[in-house]
Amino acid sequence: MKLYIDRISETPSSLSFEAPSAWWEARVEDAHERPYTLAEPLRFELRAHTMGTKILIEGSLRGALDAECSRCLARYRHALRDDFELLLESAGERVPSDPEGAESLARNGLCLGDEIGEGWYRGSVITLDAFFGEVVACAMPIQLACGEDCAGLCPICGVDRNENRCDCRVEEMKPKSPFAVLEKLRDGRSGGES
Ligand SMILES: [Zn+2]
Ligand SMILES: [Zn+2]
Repeated sequence: MKLYIDRISETPSSLSFEAPSAWWEARVEDAHERPYTLAEPLRFELRAHTMGTKILIEGSLRGALDAECSRCLARYRHALRDDFELLLESAGERVPSDPEGAESLARNGLCLGDEIGEGWYRGSVITLDAFFGEVVACAMPIQLACGEDCAGLCPICGVDRNENRCDCRVEEMKPKSPFAVLEKLRDGRSGGES
Protein backbone atom coordinates (compact mmCIF):
# COMPACT_ATOMS: atom_id res chain seq x y z
CA MET A 1 0.00 0.00 0.00
CA LYS A 2 1.89 2.95 -1.34
CA LEU A 3 1.51 6.69 -1.35
CA TYR A 4 3.11 8.55 -4.27
CA ILE A 5 4.35 11.92 -3.11
CA ASP A 6 4.17 13.59 -6.52
CA ARG A 7 0.42 12.88 -6.68
CA ILE A 8 -0.23 14.87 -3.52
CA SER A 9 -0.86 18.59 -3.85
CA GLU A 10 -2.30 21.43 -1.80
CA THR A 11 -5.76 20.28 -2.85
CA PRO A 12 -6.77 17.25 -0.78
CA SER A 13 -6.96 14.05 -2.79
CA SER A 14 -8.82 10.92 -1.77
CA LEU A 15 -7.26 7.52 -1.76
CA SER A 16 -8.53 4.18 -0.59
CA PHE A 17 -6.79 0.95 0.25
CA GLU A 18 -8.10 -2.48 1.04
CA ALA A 19 -6.27 -5.07 3.10
CA PRO A 20 -7.40 -8.71 3.11
CA SER A 21 -7.32 -10.92 6.22
CA ALA A 22 -4.07 -12.47 5.00
CA TRP A 23 -2.42 -9.05 5.28
CA TRP A 24 -3.49 -8.70 8.90
CA GLU A 25 -2.65 -12.31 9.79
CA ALA A 26 0.85 -11.82 8.42
CA ARG A 27 1.36 -8.77 10.63
CA VAL A 28 0.33 -10.21 13.99
CA GLU A 29 2.04 -13.24 15.43
CA ASP A 30 -0.91 -14.51 17.43
CA ALA A 31 -3.66 -13.95 14.83
CA HIS A 32 -4.81 -17.56 15.08
CA GLU A 33 -5.05 -17.49 18.87
CA ARG A 34 -7.34 -14.49 19.01
CA PRO A 35 -11.07 -14.94 19.66
CA TYR A 36 -11.90 -13.23 16.37
CA THR A 37 -11.09 -13.23 12.69
CA LEU A 38 -11.59 -10.55 10.07
CA ALA A 39 -15.08 -10.86 8.60
CA GLU A 40 -14.24 -8.67 5.62
CA PRO A 41 -11.21 -6.85 4.20
CA LEU A 42 -10.08 -3.75 6.10
CA ARG A 43 -10.73 -0.49 4.33
CA PHE A 44 -8.57 2.59 4.73
CA GLU A 45 -9.98 5.82 3.30
CA LEU A 46 -7.45 8.64 3.14
CA ARG A 47 -7.42 12.29 2.30
CA ALA A 48 -3.95 13.69 1.79
CA HIS A 49 -2.63 17.12 1.00
CA THR A 50 0.59 19.06 1.29
CA MET A 51 1.22 21.88 3.74
CA GLY A 52 4.45 23.41 2.52
CA THR A 53 6.98 20.60 2.75
CA LYS A 54 4.72 18.67 5.13
CA ILE A 55 2.06 16.14 4.19
CA LEU A 56 -1.13 15.76 6.18
CA ILE A 57 -2.97 12.46 5.91
CA GLU A 58 -6.40 12.17 7.47
CA GLY A 59 -8.05 8.82 7.32
CA SER A 60 -10.54 6.33 8.62
CA LEU A 61 -10.45 2.59 9.14
CA ARG A 62 -13.54 0.46 8.57
CA GLY A 63 -13.78 -3.24 9.09
CA ALA A 64 -15.66 -6.02 10.83
CA LEU A 65 -14.65 -8.92 13.00
CA ASP A 66 -16.26 -12.29 13.31
CA ALA A 67 -15.91 -12.47 17.09
CA GLU A 68 -16.87 -14.61 20.04
CA CYS A 69 -18.68 -12.85 22.90
CA SER A 70 -16.63 -13.28 26.08
CA ARG A 71 -19.83 -13.43 28.18
CA CYS A 72 -22.26 -15.68 26.27
CA LEU A 73 -19.79 -17.26 23.80
CA ALA A 74 -22.07 -16.46 20.83
CA ARG A 75 -20.49 -15.49 17.52
CA TYR A 76 -21.28 -11.95 16.51
CA ARG A 77 -20.11 -9.26 14.14
CA HIS A 78 -17.97 -6.61 15.80
CA ALA A 79 -17.66 -3.37 13.83
CA LEU A 80 -14.20 -1.79 13.62
CA ARG A 81 -14.13 1.97 13.19
CA ASP A 82 -11.39 4.40 13.85
CA ASP A 83 -10.18 7.75 12.57
CA PHE A 84 -6.54 8.69 12.39
CA GLU A 85 -4.24 11.47 11.34
CA LEU A 86 -0.62 11.48 10.27
CA LEU A 87 1.46 14.61 9.77
CA LEU A 88 4.64 13.86 7.87
CA GLU A 89 7.63 16.11 7.75
CA SER A 90 10.31 15.76 5.10
CA ALA A 91 13.28 14.06 6.77
CA GLY A 92 15.77 15.90 4.59
CA GLU A 93 19.24 14.84 5.62
CA ARG A 94 18.20 13.92 9.15
CA VAL A 95 18.68 10.37 10.36
CA PRO A 96 16.45 8.91 13.10
CA SER A 97 18.41 8.16 16.27
CA ASP A 98 16.93 4.69 16.70
CA PRO A 99 18.13 2.00 14.23
CA GLU A 100 14.59 0.71 13.68
CA GLY A 101 13.38 4.15 12.62
CA ALA A 102 16.38 4.65 10.35
CA GLU A 103 15.76 1.30 8.69
CA SER A 104 12.07 2.06 8.21
CA LEU A 105 12.87 5.43 6.66
CA ALA A 106 15.31 3.80 4.22
CA ARG A 107 13.02 0.89 3.35
CA ASN A 108 9.50 2.35 3.58
CA GLY A 109 10.22 6.04 3.11
CA LEU A 110 8.46 6.52 6.43
CA CYS A 111 9.58 6.73 10.03
CA LEU A 112 6.90 7.15 12.67
CA GLY A 113 7.70 9.61 15.46
CA ASP A 114 7.45 9.17 19.21
CA GLU A 115 4.23 11.16 19.16
CA ILE A 116 1.21 9.37 17.73
CA GLY A 117 0.27 10.82 14.35
CA GLU A 118 3.67 12.26 13.49
CA GLY A 119 6.53 11.09 11.39
CA TRP A 120 9.15 11.75 8.73
CA TYR A 121 9.12 10.78 5.08
CA ARG A 122 11.83 10.53 2.49
CA GLY A 123 11.83 9.91 -1.24
CA SER A 124 8.93 9.77 -3.65
CA VAL A 125 7.08 6.68 -2.40
CA ILE A 126 5.83 5.95 1.11
CA THR A 127 4.89 2.40 2.07
CA LEU A 128 2.02 2.64 4.50
CA ASP A 129 1.72 -0.97 5.65
CA ALA A 130 3.56 -0.52 8.95
CA PHE A 131 1.52 2.57 9.77
CA PHE A 132 -1.76 0.85 8.88
CA GLY A 133 -0.66 -2.05 11.07
CA GLU A 134 -0.47 0.33 14.04
CA VAL A 135 -3.84 1.87 13.21
CA VAL A 136 -5.44 -1.57 13.18
CA ALA A 137 -3.69 -2.60 16.43
CA CYS A 138 -5.15 0.49 18.15
CA ALA A 139 -8.64 -0.22 16.82
CA MET A 140 -8.79 -3.85 17.92
CA PRO A 141 -11.17 -4.39 20.85
CA ILE A 142 -9.94 -5.36 24.31
CA GLN A 143 -13.32 -6.56 25.53
CA LEU A 144 -15.54 -8.62 23.26
CA ALA A 145 -19.24 -8.45 24.08
CA CYS A 146 -22.13 -9.03 21.67
CA GLY A 147 -23.93 -6.15 23.35
CA GLU A 148 -23.48 -3.79 26.30
CA ASP A 149 -26.28 -5.58 28.12
CA CYS A 150 -25.28 -9.18 27.31
CA ALA A 151 -26.20 -11.16 30.44
CA GLY A 152 -23.78 -13.99 29.65
CA LEU A 153 -23.99 -17.63 30.68
CA CYS A 154 -25.04 -18.82 34.14
CA PRO A 155 -21.77 -19.91 35.80
CA ILE A 156 -23.60 -22.82 37.46
CA CYS A 157 -25.86 -24.44 34.87
CA GLY A 158 -24.47 -22.77 31.75
CA VAL A 159 -27.83 -21.54 30.49
CA ASP A 160 -27.70 -18.50 28.17
CA ARG A 161 -29.24 -15.87 30.40
CA ASN A 162 -30.11 -13.72 27.38
CA GLU A 163 -32.60 -16.36 26.28
CA ASN A 164 -33.54 -18.42 29.31
CA ARG A 165 -33.97 -18.08 33.01
CA CYS A 166 -32.66 -20.45 35.62
CA ASP A 167 -33.08 -20.63 39.37
CA CYS A 168 -29.43 -20.97 40.22
CA ARG A 169 -28.21 -18.74 42.99
CA VAL A 170 -24.55 -18.03 42.77
CA GLU A 171 -24.25 -17.08 46.47
CA GLU A 172 -25.51 -20.46 47.69
CA MET A 173 -22.62 -22.29 46.12
CA LYS A 174 -20.20 -20.68 48.51
CA PRO A 175 -20.20 -21.51 52.23
CA LYS A 176 -20.70 -18.50 54.44
CA SER A 177 -17.53 -19.13 56.38
CA PRO A 178 -15.04 -21.97 56.91
CA PHE A 179 -16.70 -22.61 60.28
CA ALA A 180 -20.03 -23.31 58.59
CA VAL A 181 -18.36 -26.16 56.70
CA LEU A 182 -16.79 -27.54 59.89
CA GLU A 183 -20.14 -27.40 61.66
CA LYS A 184 -21.76 -29.34 58.85
CA LEU A 185 -19.06 -32.04 59.09
CA ARG A 186 -19.40 -32.28 62.88
CA ASP A 187 -23.18 -32.48 62.69
CA GLY A 188 -22.92 -35.23 60.13
CA ARG A 189 -20.52 -37.26 62.30
CA SER A 190 -22.54 -36.93 65.51
CA GLY A 191 -25.67 -37.87 63.56
CA GLY A 192 -23.96 -41.08 62.46
CA GLU A 193 -22.96 -42.03 66.02
CA SER A 194 -26.41 -41.81 67.55
ZN1 LIG B 1 -22.99 -12.09 24.56
ZN1 LIG C 1 -28.25 -21.49 36.12
